[in-house]
Amino acid sequence: MRQEPFSGEFREGMPFLGGSLWIDFVNTTPVIKGVTLDLIGDASALAAWAKQANIAPHQSGAPEDPAALHELRTELADAFDLLAASKPLSADLIATINHLIEHSAIRRRLADAGATTTLDEHVELAGPPVASAVAWDFAQFLGDYDHQRLRHCDNPACTMQFYDVGKNNRRRWCTMSLCGNRDKVAQYRGRKAARRPD
Ligand SMILES: [Zn+2]
Repeated sequence: MRQEPFSGEFREGMPFLGGSLWIDFVNTTPVIKGVTLDLIGDASALAAWAKQANIAPHQSGAPEDPAALHELRTELADAFDLLAASKPLSADLIATINHLIEHSAIRRRLADAGATTTLDEHVELAGPPVASAVAWDFAQFLGDYDHQRLRHCDNPACTMQFYDVGKNNRRRWCTMSLCGNRDKVAQYRGRKAARRPD
């Protein structure tokens, strides 16, 4: 479920710029104009976020547990910092993730495409849709990542974090439009002010 490379993406005004679904999930408490929002704060907000995250409701029909989701988000936010610092994850989080993914599976089948036969794989998630999709993505992520690419946006007033998938690993901002340009403008004003004789 690793997403497309960073493109400074907002969907319906919601940030999907983390580089991986579980980081987008952690990024659901953005601070906009000084106010902290919760993009999964109630059932309708959660449904809207899940839709933009391409999380489809699945057959098992297990209901989402709002309190558990918020707890998962807090634990994954901690995990982000632990992973970035190359520190071990808490046993509690590992148990939570294992519990959430235990009934999910990768299904494989051969597809006959005439001259060639290909192996098709798809992930079949079971359990509450958002919690299990996020947990699955996190587990997948742990299989292959570089801790130096886990970073917070350089703007101290911004809460966004991301996994830098860029070739040079030099991404500093959640998005250029939100924080990168603001920094450029500040630098420009700073230079202008410095140059101005008193
Ligand atoms: Zn930012």
